[in-house]
Amino acid sequence: MDNIISNHELWANELLTKENKKLNKLKDDAWTDWIEEQLNKEISQEEKELMDQMMKKVMTVRNAIREKHPEGNEFVQDTITCPLCGGLVSFMISDHYNGHIHAVCSNYADGCVKWME
Ligand SMILES: [Zn+2]
Repeated sequence: MDNIISNHELWANELLTKENKKLNKLKDDAWTDWIEEQLNKEISQEEKELMDQMMKKVMTVRNAIREKHPEGNEFVQDTITCPLCGGLVSFMISDHYNGHIHAVCSNYADGCVKWME
């Protein structure tokens, strides 16, 4: 009797594993499709301009941050007045590691900058 039950459990588990694999495959496929779609998507002129604008804004704030904190070798966490909107930009610089900057302006919700490198 015990054997019958455990065999049945084994069989059920196997079936579940198969179903999970199928499900994961479906998820993988959907993910791959989505990535491909994003890569193939033609960027409209409007989107391109918006991206350029945002990039310029980021560079303006980034330069202001670098003016205050020239490249060194320490981790920096500080704030500056936003050169774009007068808000407060909070930032971190990973100069101890790779020099990447993470920053967010207090007026980010109103269209100012936020980025991570
Ligand atoms: Zn700002």
